[in-house]
Amino acid sequence: MQTFQYTKAASIDKALGAASGAKFIAGGTTLVDLMKLSVEKPSGLVDINLLPLDKVETLPNGGLRIGAMVRNSDLAWNAEVQKNYAVLSQALLSGASPQLRNMATTGGNLLQRTRCVYFREPSAGTPGGYGCNKRTPGSGCAAMEGFNRMHAVLGTSDKCIATHPSDMCVAMAALEATIQTEGPKGKRTIAFADFHKVPGDTPHLENALEPGELVTYVDLPKPVEGAKSVYLKLRDRASYEFALASCAVVAKVEGGRIRYARVAMGGVGTKPWRSHEAEAALMGKAANAETFRHAAEAALKDAKPHGENAFKVELAKRCVVRTLKMATA
Ligand code: SF4
Repeated sequence: MQTFQYTKAASIDKALGAASGAKFIAGGTTLVDLMKLSVEKPSGLVDINLLPLDKVETLPNGGLRIGAMVRNSDLAWNAEVQKNYAVLSQALLSGASPQLRNMATTGGNLLQRTRCVYFREPSAGTPGGYGCNKRTPGSGCAAMEGFNRMHAVLGTSDKCIATHPSDMCVAMAALEATIQTEGPKGKRTIAFADFHKVPGDTPHLENALEPGELVTYVDLPKPVEGAKSVYLKLRDRASYEFALASCAVVAKVEGGRIRYARVAMGGVGTKPWRSHEAEAALMGKAANAETFRHAAEAALKDAKPHGENAFKVELAKRCVVRTLKMATA
């Protein structure tokens, strides 16, 4: 780990003022690991743990405002979240371990970086003679010919096939959250769908934040009356494991027909993967197994497997079907 300057900020203004060339640190559950591995080498860290962004509050429009510093545990067990946004609570509780959830923050979870071994462990080898375009732009993608069982099948490019690792973000995609930020150019509101980027030719650019811009809040819209929401995560072991495939569904059924549907997937996309195709296949249709399978086929129709991860395509379809069944029961 290289040396860095440490600053503790007592206000958002002070944090923004100190941010030039530095990184914000909150729970540190991703950043410190990556600094130890010399993947991240910031010249400075601005500690934002004192910022007054640790509340969950009801918005005048009936939605929910979540401070960026709200810990994953506190958010998961928040009574309002459990009652009206169950999919978010379930997603958070399916991630990491209790100790990590006690440290990790809402803002940090949004910015989780991939678990691709070639990104995190430079000693993992260079299959095909390649490096990692995300870590060192232009060095190639070792995962294309290497270990890629955990990698993405949606949103990939010939430069990167890394999976976005967050469970929380999958739920937020289905809930149509918006992200509030503050930076050198002022405040911004970013739609959740626009926040994370697919790799394209620039896999090292992962989100819409500009240098020195800080996530301040995540807003959830007013809950859809009569809707039920569910998060299902399929993984190699029952806890402390990343998703092979996961699905978040918010659905409303009236008279046996689906009147509202939001579907997002995790473990299979290079970003939290909202499926408008699945939603279109569900709207107005009878809530039955045939409809659910049709929606799952639509959700994965553009999937591109790479060697070891071909099994994810069918696994993700079954995950979508099962989640829809649970959300519409
Ligand atoms: Fe790097 Fe992405 Fe390739 Fe992994 S998949 S080696 S993160 S470029």
